[in-house]
Amino acid sequence: MPFTPLDKNAASKRPILSNRLASLSEQKCEEQVFVTGFKEIIGQESAISFLRSAYSARRLAHAYVFVGPDGVGKRTTALKFAQLLVCEDSKKTDEPCEKCPACIKARGSAHPDIVWVNTEGQFVKIDSIRQACRRLSLKGFESSYKVLIVPQAQYLNDESSNALLKTLEEPSADTVIILIAPSLRDILPTIASRCQRVVFSSLDRESLMKLLQEKFGVAKQESSYLAAMSDGSLGRALRYFKGQLFARKNSFIKEAFDQRLRLDDFIDVSKQERTQRDEKIEEVLGVLSSWFRDLLVAKACAGAGVFINIDREADIMRACRDLSFGEIELKLVAIADTLNEISRNVNARISLTKMRVELWKQ
Ligand SMILES: [Zn+2]
Repeated sequence: MPFTPLDKNAASKRPILSNRLASLSEQKCEEQVFVTGFKEIIGQESAISFLRSAYSARRLAHAYVFVGPDGVGKRTTALKFAQLLVCEDSKKTDEPCEKCPACIKARGSAHPDIVWVNTEGQFVKIDSIRQACRRLSLKGFESSYKVLIVPQAQYLNDESSNALLKTLEEPSADTVIILIAPSLRDILPTIASRCQRVVFSSLDRESLMKLLQEKFGVAKQESSYLAAMSDGSLGRALRYFKGQLFARKNSFIKEAFDQRLRLDDFIDVSKQERTQRDEKIEEVLGVLSSWFRDLLVAKACAGAGVFINIDREADIMRACRDLSFGEIELKLVAIADTLNEISRNVNARISLTKMRVELWKQ
């Protein structure tokens, strides 16, 4: 089978390193939505048309790396692409039919020729990669294609990357490997350079709002808030929706202003998973950051602007009078620095205490 040439320059064109919080979110919030074929994956037309034309022209690369922000449909696209390859009735439409036994098994992660290798503990384990690669070297059980998907390829360590490298260098016929990561920088260059890059983009705010309203029944005001807070990621927006962030965020803001924000809750979490704690910090700091951002917009526009906290227009207009541009900016910088430090594993207690001083400075 002919293959498309691999992008030798992929490593040098890497987008910026996304932070660890984004990676953590990736684990949890890629949308778990039932999607029919490719057509309901929103906002990723160029990635999908690239994959579909490779399929219809029978010019498949033996390895792809899907890169882009969390929660924009990379994992769903990988599933649909794998489904397309094994589907028993996809030849004319370039869409998985969703009805044949192969499609049904693939959707239930039960197709023997589609292997998902997930993270165990901190990393993707070498044994899991070895086992999957052995599986790829055999003939397909039910399909001519065999597909290996690593949904969090940023957690391949050196050993598991090297185990994968052997298969990438000498792929067996009809094998397609799909690695998913926030950016190419999160993968060893030797791996990245052997994969065809497929870039997924953030959803624009309007598309995300529309999607939240039409598909998930989110009210208009709430959808506007969630879309603004989730950086174009449907997965993150849905996580916030499920966690009722819109209903809770005003109490975070109130507590911050009353100097009662219980930051210690985030610090003293010896029994809790760090991941959960970091997500909570990210959520609260995101809320505070959106508040100060709105104050800045209100000052800059000298009137009501396009606020993220769309339900608090009058309060924002009032509150922005008490602070100067410089003061608001310092608070925004303090919040951004804290998020950044926590993503780099800097001591959370020191970082949050520093931020608290800046936020509550009179
Ligand atoms: Zn099918």
